[in-house]
Amino acid sequence: MQSVIFHPDLCASCKSISCLMRCQYIEFSGIDEARAERKKINSGLDSRVLHECLTCYSCQEYCPNGNNPFFFLVEQQEKLGILPAPIPIVKEQLAMMAPRGRLEPQKAHAPVVDMCAFPMLTGCIRPPLFENASVFSGTDFFCNIMWLHFAKNSTIFERVPKMIENIMTCYLKDSGPDEHSMAELICFHDECYGTYTTVANAYSIPVPFKPIHLFDYIDKKLDELSGKIKPLNAVIAYQRPCSNRLIPETDKTLDRIFEKIGVTRAARKYDRQNALCCGGVPRAHQRDDFADELLEKNLNDMVASGATYCVFNCPFCMATLAEAVAEKGLFPILVSDLVQTALGG
Ligand code: SF4
Ligand code: SF4
Repeated sequence: MQSVIFHPDLCASCKSISCLMRCQYIEFSGIDEARAERKKINSGLDSRVLHECLTCYSCQEYCPNGNNPFFFLVEQQEKLGILPAPIPIVKEQLAMMAPRGRLEPQKAHAPVVDMCAFPMLTGCIRPPLFENASVFSGTDFFCNIMWLHFAKNSTIFERVPKMIENIMTCYLKDSGPDEHSMAELICFHDECYGTYTTVANAYSIPVPFKPIHLFDYIDKKLDELSGKIKPLNAVIAYQRPCSNRLIPETDKTLDRIFEKIGVTRAARKYDRQNALCCGGVPRAHQRDDFADELLEKNLNDMVASGATYCVFNCPFCMATLAEAVAEKGLFPILVSDLVQTALGG
């Protein structure tokens, strides 16, 4: 089995064991227990962490040494056969999200926008934010990061290089600015950007194009379109997705975007490094009681913040939470649509 980049020696000299001590979902009696569980995981032994993990990705962000603790945890779960979800669900998901081989190479032109496996959101790619964009989506271009939730690192190793090849062959081969520069790919889905940057580095998968995060694209566009901005003067509750733990630097860009469109990001308990999982993954794992508990905490916190919008980065989080937040009186909306609203689009 291929392995992710991970250095046990960094853990051996680690003072904080932040990866486990800061985990919001597993409690330890103290740092000694956390250190002991870390040692078990790193030695290839069974650990309660491998069974109790919510697969929230957060320890990737909490590790001050960039040591990929969550990717390594998933690897150990798979090696030991500790699946977070029942086997029939894993098999069903593997079949549903498999590449179909329906490839039709097209002449794409910049900006090229990757919608991942969300063709139903193609309507988001409209002027003024996305003038003359080329768009694609489907399971032949799916980033496949979701397998981190199902102890399937092997599927990431198997499918991600194929997806990269498909994207290059079908859309990016001739769309670079010139033969010396890499073609750019705007990743609408946070997970795609995380895959083609952090995951690709940790899994040693080469990426022959330049991934651009949606927030970086929007931030730049807002400067070009500054004359059109009508400040929204609204308070919003932000649902930070798990994938953003892999690329925390983009969260600062989001703050800049909110500032430019006149939006205040409510300083709530469950945002930024304390963000809560939307609950969709524990439901897929059939941990419904846990998902209900998360939902209640998250919604109460959003309502208490006084926000009028609940803003989503991840379409899956939005699908999971939109109805519940709307019932609480908050308007669910994706970041890009919120920005389009400020631009009159
Ligand atoms: S993964 Fe990171 S935070 Fe955890 S013990 Fe190792 S070095 Fe420390
Ligand atoms: S992925 Fe989340 S739940 Fe699992 S150990 Fe890391 S921080 Fe804890």
